[in-house]
Amino acid sequence: MALCSIFCPRIPVRFRPKPISPFLSKPLFPLSYRVYSSLPPTSSTKDELGSVSIGFLGMGIMGSPMAQNLLKAGCDVTVWNRTKSKCDPLVGLGAKYKSSPEEVTATCDLTFAMLADPESAIDVACGKNGAVSGISSGKGYVDVSTVDAASSILISKQIKDTGALFLEAPVSGSKKPAEDGQLIFLTAGDKLLYEKAAPFLDIMGKSRFYLGDVGNGAAMKLVVNMIMGSMMASFAEGILLSQKVGLDPNVLVEVVSQGAINAPMYSLKGPSMIKSVYPTAFPLKHQQKDMRLALGLAESVSQSTPIAAAANELYKVAKSYGLSDEDFSAVMEALKAARSQQS
Ligand code: NAP
Repeated sequence: MALCSIFCPRIPVRFRPKPISPFLSKPLFPLSYRVYSSLPPTSSTKDELGSVSIGFLGMGIMGSPMAQNLLKAGCDVTVWNRTKSKCDPLVGLGAKYKSSPEEVTATCDLTFAMLADPESAIDVACGKNGAVSGISSGKGYVDVSTVDAASSILISKQIKDTGALFLEAPVSGSKKPAEDGQLIFLTAGDKLLYEKAAPFLDIMGKSRFYLGDVGNGAAMKLVVNMIMGSMMASFAEGILLSQKVGLDPNVLVEVVSQGAINAPMYSLKGPSMIKSVYPTAFPLKHQQKDMRLALGLAESVSQSTPIAAAANELYKVAKSYGLSDEDFSAVMEALKAARSQQS
């Protein structure tokens, strides 16, 4: 059954895309992209949204609130997670549960996956009892995990070999934006699926970008997180330097917040960093994974990224101190350790 035949009769007319030939799903230019940013929220009724069955694989820091927002909007949601107990709160809110990714994709029209890294994203999609085993023509798979382009292309190929459609859609934004439905989706892949998934992306996010071929969304996400990882390492250095020269780091955070280098991240994380407390919103292990993947991306095109490379070393040191599951702002502990070794 064609995907359109599953979705179109049940998605309200205003969400139906103009018919797009599968042959036009490739962009006209290799890196062309279209931006759909800060769209007004969709206004589907609960009945309309509930008529498409949604699967959600991965109930971690991000996946759980994203699935919750779909449920709260009236969607029919089926969840799966490797550690089953993390599905319990969602089931309590009305989600269905299936015991494998295969069963989820076999029973759902549209499945989202939010997994830790390339290895888990590939395993959940392509491994034993994985999503590929259950999916078929007429369905869609949207991988919102942060992975590298090669992994995304591999998953895309296996999904598409079944006749189903694939969209990569990594997110910019952390735990709070996920809870608030304020994520930014960086999508690429099947344009038709992008259009079909849009009402659901708009429940979970505040904006979405369509970037063309699979791999472009992954690359965009890695560039963004490479910048973020370097910013955080530099911010941590600044806090420690301000303390060492007798300044009040709280005043530093305030000064930064009023100037051109302000970023919400600094005001959000600065006060707890000063107290050496790192409540986890974005696990440090995932930030280091993203630095590693971004450096691989840079290597693939011989782009020099010395600042990101130096920052990556700090995240690696922080991991070696057992800080993998702390927030990525705990990278400051690696600098503290370096400082105490010097003195
Ligand atoms: P998380 O809390 O660590 O959750 C990771 C998820 O992956 C869990 O559901 C975990 O299952 C599952 N998983 C890990 N290894 C697996 C395996 N081998 N097989 C099957 N499932 C496996 O991570 P998160 O913060 O939600 O992040 C998820 C993704 O979003 C990552 O790619 C991350 O880089 C990206 N991201 C995170 C943030 C953020 O601020 N947190 C922001 C943007 C993007 P278990 O529960 O069984 O461990």
